Amino acid sequence: MYDAAVIGAGVSGVSTAWQLSHYELKIALLEKCADVGFGVSKANSGIVHGGFHHPVSTLKARLEVRGNLMFEKLQYELGFPFRRDGILVVAFTPEEMVTVQKLYAQGLANGVRNLEMCGRDRLLQLEPKLNHEVVGGFFAPGGGTIEPYRYVFSMVESARKNGVELHCDFKVASGEFDGSHWTLTSATGEKIKARYVVNAAGLFADEISRNCGAEEFKIIPRKGEEYLLDRESPARPKRVIFPVPTKTSKGVLVIPTAEGTTMIGPTAELTEDKDDVSTSADRMKQIVAQVRQMVDGISARDIITSFAGLRPVLESEDFYIELSKKVPNFVQVAGIQSPGLTASPAIGEYVKDILRDAGLKMMEKGGDYTLPHRHEIRHETPESLDALHEKDPRWTHVVCRCENISEAEIIEAIRHGHTTLDGIKFYTRAGMGRCQGGFCSSRIMMIVSRETGIPMEQLTKKGGGSRLLSGKLGSVSVK
Ligand SMILES: Cc1cc2nc3c(=O)[nH]c(=O)nc-3n(C[C@H](O)[C@H](O)[C@H](O)COP(=O)(O)OP(=O)(O)OC[C@H]3O[C@@H](n4cnc5c(N)ncnc54)[C@H](O)[C@@H]3O)c2cc1C
Repeated sequence: MYDAAVIGAGVSGVSTAWQLSHYELKIALLEKCADVGFGVSKANSGIVHGGFHHPVSTLKARLEVRGNLMFEKLQYELGFPFRRDGILVVAFTPEEMVTVQKLYAQGLANGVRNLEMCGRDRLLQLEPKLNHEVVGGFFAPGGGTIEPYRYVFSMVESARKNGVELHCDFKVASGEFDGSHWTLTSATGEKIKARYVVNAAGLFADEISRNCGAEEFKIIPRKGEEYLLDRESPARPKRVIFPVPTKTSKGVLVIPTAEGTTMIGPTAELTEDKDDVSTSADRMKQIVAQVRQMVDGISARDIITSFAGLRPVLESEDFYIELSKKVPNFVQVAGIQSPGLTASPAIGEYVKDILRDAGLKMMEKGGDYTLPHRHEIRHETPESLDALHEKDPRWTHVVCRCENISEAEIIEAIRHGHTTLDGIKFYTRAGMGRCQGGFCSSRIMMIVSRETGIPMEQLTKKGGGSRLLSGKLGSVSVK
């Protein structure tokens, strides 16, 4: 019997489980995929937003501002890549400057500090790569970027070290409350009992709610296509660059990612299909044309890959985080579209408070319970790599040449439970560079097979039926 079961291991569910792991509670984190963070939380722009895009009346604005302020402490405790380099919003016409003024005023109303209205010269000083036609804008120094998957992984690892039990490949199919506790049943018939349930199932929060007899609502996926430029692209700016927003989106951006690459996107298009993560050549051309108006050095030739994510949107356009009014001990965490990543630390805190108010007794654990997970090998100096090599030569055996990832790092990922190609990619960055895994995928597969004993033909890209090889292999030597 768990005190609480959190459904969904994206940023919302993980940060809730992490918050709860600070207390003497038995917590289950249930995820339908083979690994954590495989939902919307791996397919986004990685921006820690600046708190000026949404009006003060919305829950998402309040949690965005609070979440933004929590990242330094979290980074210190958990050790994921995060940079607070600031955000620029730029206008190219006097009409656009009217919207810029509104955003600036909205940021002030939300309590954001240090926003700076800028003329053309100041903007060009802050970002020399900006198109010189820019007329004005503002600077939000509190904005930044994180590596979203490493953020999720480090939080999950910390939560697990503090007692949270993670159940991957557990797709919640239904839930029943019998007067004292919930029984959640998976698609394969496994059962988990818990006194409280948190529904943080992203795009599928509406289905979970319905299947647990709670509120009826509809999640509408809003698709965003993103395009990643080569690490060497000369167009990489110093700060995130936003155009003035439209009604439904923050616009198409130029993002210097925390990983050192440059990303352009996302689009914003409603779709009915919760699995549609396709990208298209037409959208790519549109995006390149749009971002070239802001940074004209961007070239389609620098694009190395594309992906799409689906924002889980409610009709209200706001987050819906409340104790259910229809069924007992059930917290809804739905409609977590952008700025969900930014708000996530505050979402976890907010849900924890809802659970406490609903009667979940919380007694703080003593001692050093937030064990940090630090993963800093990529910042090592050549001298310290020499020392690591002395201990274990696999630290200098490079497996992914584009991102310079060693065999020892792949093994570290495997030992932390990531055995799919995507899990290892998101944990280490192996396969994320220019050749997109062309060189290293087969090598990584051999290492996984060697370390885990899983036959090569059973290895998957991301769990389920996503097998990497078809047919049976003859003998493969795994060195
Ligand atoms: C293109 C794009 C760009 C974005 N950019 C930003 C940005 O720069 N900054 C920002 O702040 N926000 C951004 N966002 C928003 C942000 O990514 C989301 O708000 C956030 O990731 C939502 O997290 P979540 O945990 O609520 O959902 P998810 O990450 O989707 O997590 C839900 C989890 O529940 C699991 N699940 C579903 N059904 C079940 C079930 N039946 N049983 C068990 N598990 C289940 C899923 O597999 C998934 O892992 C962006 C979104 C998109 C699409």
